[in-house]
Amino acid sequence: MAELLSIDKAQRLILANAEPLPSETVALADAAGRVVADAARAAIDLPPFPSSAMDGYAVRAADTPGQLRVKARIAAGKPAADPLGPREAMGIATGGVVPDGADAVIPIEAVVEYDNEVEIGKAESGENVRPRGSDIRAGEVVVERGAVLTPARIGALAAAGVPEVRCSRRPRAAVLPTGTELRRPGEPLEAGEIYEANGLILAAQLEAVGAVVEALPAVGDEEAAHRGALEQALEADLVVTSGGVSVGPHDLVRRVEAELGVQEVFWRVSVKPGKPIAFGVRGRTLVFGLPGNPVSALVGFLLFVGPAVLALQGVPEPLPRFDQGRLVGGRRRNPERDELVRARLRQSADGPLLEPLSGQESHMIARSAEADALVFVARGEGELVNGQPVEYLRLT
Ligand code: AMP
Ligand code: MG
Repeated sequence: MAELLSIDKAQRLILANAEPLPSETVALADAAGRVVADAARAAIDLPPFPSSAMDGYAVRAADTPGQLRVKARIAAGKPAADPLGPREAMGIATGGVVPDGADAVIPIEAVVEYDNEVEIGKAESGENVRPRGSDIRAGEVVVERGAVLTPARIGALAAAGVPEVRCSRRPRAAVLPTGTELRRPGEPLEAGEIYEANGLILAAQLEAVGAVVEALPAVGDEEAAHRGALEQALEADLVVTSGGVSVGPHDLVRRVEAELGVQEVFWRVSVKPGKPIAFGVRGRTLVFGLPGNPVSALVGFLLFVGPAVLALQGVPEPLPRFDQGRLVGGRRRNPERDELVRARLRQSADGPLLEPLSGQESHMIARSAEADALVFVARGEGELVNGQPVEYLRLT
């Protein structure tokens, strides 16, 4: 048998076909989770003025220690009308504008207050004053191109006066489960039927990486049904089917896709679970055929589909990041296929420990729901031993 395509070669073939989508302007309030297409720059210096870090008194350090006359009281958003003169102090709130002439703020806890005077110890110039532009300066990059807009980045843009950002368009993803045996949860099951899980798994995964999902109802294993649903699905930027990509007589996905003009890039990868994955393109639409067992769909998404969705949004390093840990117990390697083993992740004094779950078969989605991580076990002979360093992918 010809050697199967390796995971990383398959990933490279996918990414070679995943050109970033065009960008659009997005209001900041709608931009969480989006990917920035053009670097976003600060509109103002931040802070925009020298700002007090404390509730206290603004003074000239040169006048301290000493007893100073309180000239005014400054609230946040209400700067003083006049500068601070020699041997004067001004009451100031956190976030208030440090007045011209002042170079330090003494916290309220550190002064003795009289009616109209305060007794102040020695102050250092610059103490408790946040200089204008000390966080970022107008025109500097707040968020780089390709960055995902986390809550902190949204906050940074807002604070720097940026009301909208250029983001890559969210990829539209059609999800199509195939299988005559599939019923929706909640419906009664007839003999031989099972509940449809993959459509919901894949929709949740797609949304988590920024796609807009069109969830199509499951189709039975008939050519006409496949053709109708796939024609509709192929309007999207990305099609993800589940089931029907193996070698059985009812596995129609690849054949019908080929008839609809999908050019297959690869079929079958040296991975367990999920070997019969298919990938093709029609124009700029990326077409993924994931195998039907739910764990295969879940893992196939993480290795192959998720990175493509990120790449379509312009994320520069879209592949999943593996961390280092140690295996608990031994594990025999699979001679032909790299394996992703579902495991519990535990922190220990020696670093992360990965304990494989019992029940690794690809239909066992209920057991997989207990996993925190996928451990990478490279194909080959022999076994991994207890305590052996391994790479793992965290499941979130
Ligand atoms: P297939 O890849 O179509 O041969 O399906 C492999 C196995 O996965 C079969 O046992 C199917 O019944 C099951 N399966 C296929 N699609 C789904 C789905 N959407 N949800 C749950 N199980 C599925
Ligand atoms: Mg099937």
